[in-house]
Amino acid sequence: MPIIDLPAPPPQLAQESAIVVDIRHADSAQVAAHKQDAHVRWWLELGDQLLLVGARGEIRKAAPDREVLGELVDFDRSRMRLHALGCARESATPGRLIARSGRWELRELSAAELRNPLPALHDGHAEEWREIEPDSTITWRYRTDDAPTAADPTIQSVVDAIDTTRWFADLSTLADWDRSSYGPELALSRAWIETRFSGLGLSVSAPAFTMPGPGGGQISVNNVIGQWTGTLFPEQWIIVGGHYDSRNSSSSSTVNTPGAEDNASGCAGVIELARVLVGFAPERSILFMCYAGEEQGLHGSYAHVQSLQASGNLAKVQAVVTMDMIGYSADSQLDAVFESYSTWIAYLNQFAAAAATYAPELQVTLSTNPFGSDHMPYLQAGKRTLLAIESDYDAYPWYHNSGDTPAHIGANAQAMGGAILKTSIAVIAQIAGINDRIFASGFESSAN
Ligand SMILES: [Zn+2]
Repeated sequence: MPIIDLPAPPPQLAQESAIVVDIRHADSAQVAAHKQDAHVRWWLELGDQLLLVGARGEIRKAAPDREVLGELVDFDRSRMRLHALGCARESATPGRLIARSGRWELRELSAAELRNPLPALHDGHAEEWREIEPDSTITWRYRTDDAPTAADPTIQSVVDAIDTTRWFADLSTLADWDRSSYGPELALSRAWIETRFSGLGLSVSAPAFTMPGPGGGQISVNNVIGQWTGTLFPEQWIIVGGHYDSRNSSSSSTVNTPGAEDNASGCAGVIELARVLVGFAPERSILFMCYAGEEQGLHGSYAHVQSLQASGNLAKVQAVVTMDMIGYSADSQLDAVFESYSTWIAYLNQFAAAAATYAPELQVTLSTNPFGSDHMPYLQAGKRTLLAIESDYDAYPWYHNSGDTPAHIGANAQAMGGAILKTSIAVIAQIAGINDRIFASGFESSAN
């Protein structure tokens, strides 16, 4: 009998199963061990949830000590998509939810759903759906494993100066205007922001830019900038920004657009950070900015980056902090996402470490898959940039809707906003260089 060489059997990829396990209470070494377990062919990390893929009937052996949140007996990667939680409220989201963290969810789509075009994020953002790559981290929970770093007394004094009652009052003032970029009241809110900045002694400007109008053609709207000139390094700039425009369920409506959470919360946050930081006479320059035109496609922040390029000032920018929706929490568990490109992982970790030290009530998820806010133009221009955002906004019934009022943000607003403001100001103070308040007062009086 001749010996017949049989080809090797094909890999049993069609026989894959997956489980989603809860890694909330796992430390870094335990998470790494699950990923490297012999039963795991590949994995996907989404915050507190770890998807483990392996042979059918075997994969549950990979993490026997973890709670299994879900199991897919017939796992087919080609039907999996990552979905960015943007403004897709107008239509039901296709697919079945498998896992979720921060601003991303993993959904399983049917063959029919995959044949149809998937709904796009608002106004031309094409980033809403992505295929998944094996062995990738989409978002992750910041794990200190060790005790957080001890507070620096000077930074702590800056953090302690944040006044969340004052911040919420500013938020409420802004929410009284219809701040649609297409409407007449945007200019009223802009004038009020200018007055806040000028009252702090900042150098105020409101550069105009054009963006597409609601009926075709171009309209002109304005960003607002309050510039602090650094006491030691005026040519080194830090940008702290958030959009002041708002919308409701129709991005072209000009009425009933209170936008308390989105984004009076972030704009009032910029004002509060300015108020506190000016008292500490930062060594580097800080541009406190409120953008218009965000809701229709980040027009204000793109216009600012273009003007920085045109004026040759882009090279001065050392760091950017963007705040968009910082006041809502669905429960007393305060959750925030900090996101940037993977290039800026040290910057992400600086924010997470600052939260652990100065706002330990905050649970931090980090993401290197950013999208959909005013951080994007700066990231695309190569700048060290981060977005701070609460991560319950997709559970907020009034998101992008005329009910986004101060009252609806709810009982956790000051705790939530305060945690993000304390974290942000700690990092900005570290980067900008600050003087203690006694010196700052002396500086101000000697300058007057
Ligand atoms: Zn927003």
